[in-house]
Amino acid sequence: MERILEVENLHVTFSTYGGTVKAVRGVNFYLNKGETLAIVGESGCGKSVTSNAIMRLIPDPPGKISMGKINFKGKDLTKLGEKKMRSIRGVDISMIFQDPMTALNPTLTIGTQLMEGLRDHHQVSAHEAKNKAIEMMNLVGIPNPEERLKQYPHQFSGGMRQRIVIAIALICEPELLIADEPTTALDVTIQAQILELFGKIQEATGISIILITHDLGVVAKIADRIAVMYAGRIIETGTKRDIFYHPEHPYTKGLLQSVPRLDIKGELIPINGTPPDLFSPPKGCAFTARCPFAMEVCDKVYPGESKLTDTHKVDCWLQDERAKQLIAATVSK
Ligand code: SF4
Ligand code: MG
Repeated sequence: MERILEVENLHVTFSTYGGTVKAVRGVNFYLNKGETLAIVGESGCGKSVTSNAIMRLIPDPPGKISMGKINFKGKDLTKLGEKKMRSIRGVDISMIFQDPMTALNPTLTIGTQLMEGLRDHHQVSAHEAKNKAIEMMNLVGIPNPEERLKQYPHQFSGGMRQRIVIAIALICEPELLIADEPTTALDVTIQAQILELFGKIQEATGISIILITHDLGVVAKIADRIAVMYAGRIIETGTKRDIFYHPEHPYTKGLLQSVPRLDIKGELIPINGTPPDLFSPPKGCAFTARCPFAMEVCDKVYPGESKLTDTHKVDCWLQDERAKQLIAATVSK
């Protein structure tokens, strides 16, 4: 399988008056061509920061990619200047955000906004641009595209606006789409339609998708693989099957138990406690304070990555072969 993106040991920090926030602390993951990777976790875990880093949209200062590589089709994006990045954003990699209203300009017609990106980056005639805009409107399921291109954002419903945002993101035929909570602002029925649309688009275009979400229901619908983030790190990664049927990290297990499921009747079980402060995160596992299985070694030494299968990896001492010896050594000190 062709690997379109590989993120290696990514660190992102933010300087504040209170000190340096270590928002992303050594993140590794990859994305194959044509697949959907969901990055999940609670708010503040670093998932949006990670996706903004890929787009090189971390405001510097106060933010900074302090270490790591972002290899996109053979190029390390962390090394590129702003001019080069501008030619990649919206063309090779597109991003869509939660709120479709802020992403659209209320004073311009949908047609103008759709064609803008295309004409900025490609030499196309007005006629070609219009045809492409109509093609995109069809792809995202907006009826009467020719008429509707002349309308303004406020003339569309929330769900339709998000479809338009998706059309704008796709018009230059990017190979990677990053969607940050793309359905959070929408009601449940519309959410389902938009998720279905992602599937259709992927089938039609072969695009690779990174989906950032806190909603495991969304993940269950469209992800191929899942990366679970906690306190700035990816603590477990695997196929959808690995994560939903064989979660191994206590945090992942907690997340899955805290979701209401259609097939299981029962109470929501919230995970007790709050994530650690990222000004001075613990040296070891950041979940220690909330983990029912925490051992002495856990907050002292970070657990390495344990490879459970070819697809499934977890950072937890419970899975580490050396754990017993190390636990014995710490206890005897
Ligand atoms: Fe719990 Fe220790 Fe595993 Fe962290 S490393 S999740 S504290 S058992
Ligand atoms: Mg976010």
